[in-house]
Amino acid sequence: MFDAILIDKSDAGQSAQLTRLSPDQLPPGDVTVAVEWSTLNYKDALAITGTSPVVRSFPMVPGIDLAGTVTESSHADFAPGHKVVLNGWGVGEKHWGGLAGQARLSGDWLIPLPAGISPRAAMAIGTAGYTAMLCVMALDRHGITPASGEIVVTGAAGGVGSIATALLARRGYTVAAVTGRAAEADYLRSLGASSIVDRAELSAPGKPLARERWAGAVDVAGGVVLANVLAAMRYRGVVAACGLAAGMDLPTTVAPFILRGVTLAGIDSVMCPKADRLAAWSLLAQELDLALLDSMTTEIPLSDVIATAPRFLQGQVRGRIVVPVGKA
Ligand code: NAP
Repeated sequence: MFDAILIDKSDAGQSAQLTRLSPDQLPPGDVTVAVEWSTLNYKDALAITGTSPVVRSFPMVPGIDLAGTVTESSHADFAPGHKVVLNGWGVGEKHWGGLAGQARLSGDWLIPLPAGISPRAAMAIGTAGYTAMLCVMALDRHGITPASGEIVVTGAAGGVGSIATALLARRGYTVAAVTGRAAEADYLRSLGASSIVDRAELSAPGKPLARERWAGAVDVAGGVVLANVLAAMRYRGVVAACGLAAGMDLPTTVAPFILRGVTLAGIDSVMCPKADRLAAWSLLAQELDLALLDSMTTEIPLSDVIATAPRFLQGQVRGRIVVPVGKA
């Protein structure tokens, strides 16, 4: 038996509880993993609170990320004892996820734990950090360099934003960190931000084009915030858009695209091909300052996960949260 968070749905609605499960309840899969660490991302908070229809079948073990050790495998790439990481692929949405002592899933979804990264650090990175690296890779792919000009990061004190800020600063970019929490200014400067932008500046509907400010952007907000970021991009600027913390809509015009040649690069971590995942994790292992990662990470027990989830939706989480799930 092992501890797990389980989400279920009845006529009264969706509910989540901490419970005990047995291995024979696990879903089919060719690899079984003893989960050592998991984490909480914004999407896990949506799943656990039932705020949006992230969970596609019930009952569901949430947790879009896990790190642990293979205990059983009939997959050619993995054998008992291998350390592995999983991000996405619908795990924690359609297939039981990482907020449980054990997981059984497809070996095709797993990647080896990168050298130099502990299971705990892998979960401090988690989908948030791997997505931040996918955003940095997109800026790179579209030709943005530190010489291009300042990069703006929205939701900078959150998980994706904190790691994006640290990664960009480490590469030598000048980073403008957008936050709604003025009290986090010192924290953001400690991650490498050069300037702090009050989220309120970007939260009210603006003009189709604004003063040219930024050469690149990592946007976790969507909505009016993303529209205002697009309007304030410099000529041929690139925006890596990955989130919807401010909203799912995008009330913009074509002006930034057809008058300034702005590129809007969409970032998806869930179905991202394996080669790009491996590239992102390899770069994370090389470039992310693990002491800085530690400074942005809070540890909570599995028993606190359900109570903590709503804090994401209130924009109160700083950096990353890790959960020591199945530590012996
Ligand atoms: P998080 O830790 O909760 O960070 C989100 C941050 O957004 C908050 O900390 C807050 O930062 C800011 N924010 C909150 N409400 C806002 C609003 N109304 N307007 C503008 N900013 C607001 O969440 P996360 O795990 O980093 O995820 C961030 C977003 O990226 C989520 O929407 C998530 O679903 C998405 N995401 C997408 C992918 C993908 O594959 N595309 C992968 C990972 C995450 P400040 O207080 O600093 O302003």
